[in-house]
Amino acid sequence: MEQENKLPLSLYGLNAENLSELLQLPKAFYGRQMYAWLIKGATSFDEMTNLPKEERARLKEIMPSFCSSTVETSETDESGATKMGIRLHDGLVVECVLLIDKKGRHTACLSSQVGCAMGCTFCRTGTMGLLRNLATEEIIEQFIHLTRASTQPITHIVYMGMGEPLANIAPVTRSIRYFHEEQGFNISFRRITISTCGIVPGILKIAEQKLPVRLAVSLVSAENRIRDRVMPVNQKWNLNELKKALLHYQRLIGKRFTIEYCLLHNINTDEVSAQKLADYVRTLDVVVNLIPWNPAEDMPWETPSEEEVDRFTHYLDRLHIKYTLRRSRGREINGACGQLAVPLNKGMEYDFLDDEDDEE
Ligand code: SF4
Repeated sequence: MEQENKLPLSLYGLNAENLSELLQLPKAFYGRQMYAWLIKGATSFDEMTNLPKEERARLKEIMPSFCSSTVETSETDESGATKMGIRLHDGLVVECVLLIDKKGRHTACLSSQVGCAMGCTFCRTGTMGLLRNLATEEIIEQFIHLTRASTQPITHIVYMGMGEPLANIAPVTRSIRYFHEEQGFNISFRRITISTCGIVPGILKIAEQKLPVRLAVSLVSAENRIRDRVMPVNQKWNLNELKKALLHYQRLIGKRFTIEYCLLHNINTDEVSAQKLADYVRTLDVVVNLIPWNPAEDMPWETPSEEEVDRFTHYLDRLHIKYTLRRSRGREINGACGQLAVPLNKGMEYDFLDDEDDEE
């Protein structure tokens, strides 16, 4: 992402020191002032009114724009959820969403890739294939666009938009560290969730880096035979390998995480499936998030009936498995990354772990 004058297309992702150096600011504290403006969501040097006028004019001259992406579309529903289509510098579009839940938590749901190579068969993004990875600044800019649209500070982040975050792990973790910076957005690691389809090396890396973010792992089934069919990633890293990686994460990070279980009619809702799920999660400190599949055109699955869902929760109750269930259809992101192809007018929500788990 380099221009002819060697300046990047974006200043997001840079700290005060980097800004000072890159823009050859005459005084070091200008870098700190500029960083503070960027965090506030400033869109032009003109807004940075505590920088001298001549300096602002010079900066505008060398860098007419410092944001690499633009908001192409933005819709807000009655719950306050805002879904944006973000046009990237090369013309591609990704989506991001601002969600507001009943407790007033403002959550940014961010994309990490344009499309996705993982091919989960219940996910619309999975049908696109991978077009490219997003750069760190492109991930951060989604947050900035949402910040500008939000009346309250954004308190939570979920990497649950387009793409598999752990397949683009370096920019994703860099953006997480940026969001966490104390002088900046200061968002606690425990308020940041990475949703993964089960990329084992990525989970191990997050654990080894001791990055105490939350994990949400999309399972769909605790049987290899079914998971192979629904989530091709299982053919590369099967349930056994995934479990070993999750135990490792649990040992090193020591925090509860989420297993996303998307309920598919007649596929993973019988008693055997419940038993297998219970056996699988028994040694993990997890909450199982049950999500009846949201119907989507041209996809080979069906939504389970209320009775089918009730039966499944009854099996889990008998097995003493902790779970959450959102009953209203069409009101949630489908429990995995890449679920932003849901029409906004249906609203979108995401089940978080309890508040007491929120703090570091
Ligand atoms: S669910 Fe996530 S990992 Fe799977 S295809 Fe969709 S975006 Fe990719």
